[in-house]
Amino acid sequence: MSNTETDPAELLCRDRPGEGVTVLTPREVPLGGPRAIRVRRTLPQRQRSLIGAWCFADHYGPQDVSESGGMDVAPHPHTGLQTASWLFSGEIEHRDSIGTRATVRPGELNLMTAGHGIAHSEVSTVSTVSTSDTATLHGVQLWIALPDEHRDTARDFRHYAPPLLGLPGATARVFLGSLAGTTSPVPAFTPLLGAELTIEPGATLSLDVDPAFEHGVLQDVGSVTVAGTALDTGELAYLAPGTERLELANHGDVPARVLLLGGTPFTEELVMWWNFVGRSHEEIAEYREAWQAQADRYGRVEGYQGATAWLPAPALPQVRIKPRRNPA
Ligand code: MN
Repeated sequence: MSNTETDPAELLCRDRPGEGVTVLTPREVPLGGPRAIRVRRTLPQRQRSLIGAWCFADHYGPQDVSESGGMDVAPHPHTGLQTASWLFSGEIEHRDSIGTRATVRPGELNLMTAGHGIAHSEVSTVSTVSTSDTATLHGVQLWIALPDEHRDTARDFRHYAPPLLGLPGATARVFLGSLAGTTSPVPAFTPLLGAELTIEPGATLSLDVDPAFEHGVLQDVGSVTVAGTALDTGELAYLAPGTERLELANHGDVPARVLLLGGTPFTEELVMWWNFVGRSHEEIAEYREAWQAQADRYGRVEGYQGATAWLPAPALPQVRIKPRRNPA
């Protein structure tokens, strides 16, 4: 997905590990167009830019594609990051400048590495052959910052359908890293964790986690408490490093679903703007100029059928970098 903000600020991201449990509330991002979808963004925000290398979290839906028009994001670029697309329902057709044409489906990881530069398009599709509910679009778009030594790596795309893991009172799909004795085969550039957890009504799930990691719990549906702290839909609980055991309780009468994210604190300073992650304003300006010139840096997306051939970048902000306060 493209960052749909029409006038994105340039953000300097330099988090330090926080303390205890903090609830990050989402903000609704202004729509980028009449057919753009509404998203709830929890990362980055003033309080915190990253959890591990996870540097962007948009949660959207559920929404009826026949009413909203769904998602139609024309070819747009990325640099210095990976995008992880994860759906709870619906279906998205992904095309990129590697030549990938993939269908993003619920419960399956689609991990795109931008590295030096990539372009891709995403269009929600309503399947007529599948019995699953593809007309309801509901999911998350997550970005992972690449460390300096790998941020200019070659573009890449991976698909992985993790098995459904049975746990006491819960199920899990571990799409990145290790949890509950299972490990995703998808490689990461920094130590990371990504998993979808569904917790039965009344159940408490207790998970051993890596104490070197900081963690985030993104609430999708249900009534979950994380280490005793209640979350609303779209909220992201931050847990500082040092946590060895994570307790997630479902107090509601329907199954609750969350995403568990984690990683070792990412200590490099980043500059984020629009769809780019770099290290300076000058780099961001260079990335933007290359896209506007349709330079080779990003390659070409073939077969996108939308009204516009590619998404132009917004104007660079007048104010160069808005320094962000470190958490205390
Ligand atoms: Mn994108």
